[in-house]
Amino acid sequence: MTLHCLGIEGTAHSFGAGVVTSDGKVLSNEWDMLKPDQGGIHPREASRHHSELGPDIIREAVQKAGIDFQEIDLIAFSRGPGLGPCLRTTATIARTLSLKLEVPLVDVNHCVAHIEIGCLESTFNDPVTVYVSGGNTQIIAFAGGRFRTFGETLDIAIGNMLDVLGRELGMDFPGGPIIEREAKKGGVYHSLPYSVKGMDLSYSGMLTAAKRLYSEGVPIPEICYSVQETSFGMLAEIAERAIAHTKKSELLLTGGVARNNRLTEILSGVAERHEAEFHRVSPSLAGDQGAMIAWNGILQYNAGRQIEVQNSHVLPKWRTDDQDIIWR
Ligand code: AMP
Ligand code: MG
Repeated sequence: MTLHCLGIEGTAHSFGAGVVTSDGKVLSNEWDMLKPDQGGIHPREASRHHSELGPDIIREAVQKAGIDFQEIDLIAFSRGPGLGPCLRTTATIARTLSLKLEVPLVDVNHCVAHIEIGCLESTFNDPVTVYVSGGNTQIIAFAGGRFRTFGETLDIAIGNMLDVLGRELGMDFPGGPIIEREAKKGGVYHSLPYSVKGMDLSYSGMLTAAKRLYSEGVPIPEICYSVQETSFGMLAEIAERAIAHTKKSELLLTGGVARNNRLTEILSGVAERHEAEFHRVSPSLAGDQGAMIAWNGILQYNAGRQIEVQNSHVLPKWRTDDQDIIWR
């Protein structure tokens, strides 16, 4: 029998709902991202966004999937990591639906969901994953029953760095895609801090230095070009080391920043040098959305895992390597 899982995502500024079947078909994937008028994302405002728009997004996802609520077999939700108020709003909606529809509830680690939806799409079995988004920057690979973080940012995520820089340069939110467009006109490279520390990296020094270039009158395209080349080069270095050490033969790029074509080009070059296959998750599945949560819900449920409502408190600091991966 084919199962239908409704996945609900709401770890940060995006709220999403998607329906995925147990044979891996994405039937719908609806989402909305809060765009702050100015400044960064306030957790309370984001959680209000989720509670205001969440019910409609869920109804839309169920409708577009061509099913009705009675046909949902399980509910999956993003339990962490993320912003506390956003997680709690999302979890409350998921628990309510699970109780009302009398179907099981499955808790999903957001980062693990990004990897598994990428594996579904690419048919990769065991990739080194570069997960780059507004809130996360990690190089992950499966080892010893868990997804291990081989390297990560020691301060801000790459997407956050791009968005904050974009704001400083007078761009709309999110800055990432606009920086990509500007960088194409760049061409002149200005030196920026390249901070790789072992398998970890740091982006805050680069952000400060890039802002300084702006105050010195360096043209925006040149700043964007320099920031992209340096920050993506750092990622390539640790991705390459992870591939070389783990000897895995697949490289997966996922998360919102995976939409960047220059990063894709650089990482596919890394894969080629190591004779590994490369896949960039398609834009609709790369960012934060509900389908990835639903797919992970299916994987876990089929492996015998679900959670009782009374134990389903959220985990804002839930680490990628803090979950036994029982379905692999
Ligand atoms: P997520 O957190 O996964 O929803 O992804 C959102 C992040 O992806 C934001 O920081 C965006 O700036 C970033 N992003 C989206 N498109 C691009 C792009 N083309 N280049 C760089 N960053 C991007
Ligand atoms: Mg994400």
